[in-house]
Amino acid sequence: MVITTPDKDMPSLPNNDRSWALFLDLDGTLVELVDHPDNIAVDDALRMRLETLTTLLDGAVAVISGRAIDDLDKHLTLPTLAMSGQHGAEWRDSQGNRHIARAHQKALEAVRQQVRAHVDRDDALYLEDKGASLALHYRHRPEAGDILNRELTALIDKYPEVLELHQGKFVFEIKGRGYDKGVALERFLATPPFTDRCPVFIGDDRTDEDGFRTVNAHQGLAIKVGTGESIAGSRLTDPEAVHEWLDQWITLLQRS
Ligand SMILES: [Mg+2]
Repeated sequence: MVITTPDKDMPSLPNNDRSWALFLDLDGTLVELVDHPDNIAVDDALRMRLETLTTLLDGAVAVISGRAIDDLDKHLTLPTLAMSGQHGAEWRDSQGNRHIARAHQKALEAVRQQVRAHVDRDDALYLEDKGASLALHYRHRPEAGDILNRELTALIDKYPEVLELHQGKFVFEIKGRGYDKGVALERFLATPPFTDRCPVFIGDDRTDEDGFRTVNAHQGLAIKVGTGESIAGSRLTDPEAVHEWLDQWITLLQRS
């Protein structure tokens, strides 16, 4: 495993002698992280960038996010874009068909009630209920990270077969076991128009490392946004640098 460190230089652009598929995380990758997940800023330039890339790559572009697809649609308003939401527990294929995992829903319901009761007692915590997963945001109570981790781990440990807990940047995610961004990516790569294409994945968070692992297995291009340890081979500093890099790629694709 190669752990990369932040580098000021932009990663090389994908060369034109291979067909590529592009996978993108949203928060912290295409848009800056903000105080509340509803407050992210998606502008028309970003929408146009995604639409242009989708055309240039013959539809092989997908957003892979921890958010629910309904939530992604609310912000991106690109209803035909392929997507995987809730870390792979739901997905929309390039034909527009929606799919959702159900095996862990009963256990999640039991956990949901207990987490909700906890959040109701603390105004600084925010529970994002995505349907097939839960996200507990603690940005406004950062000192609670350790205790929340212990409490949530105890809750999840009652359902080790079907649930798992992940910690992101000021967020704990409770989700179905066996679903992650790597699984989401692999699923797309097995279906048209992604089949036989070489994956590029850009992400910023710990949960994106699963996607990077899949990309590395396919000898693709894994790009980590920001600082922190990563198995990704390349780096970009922030969402603005991601936009710049994608625009350079668009220019290259349009020239060929
Ligand atoms: Mg992210």
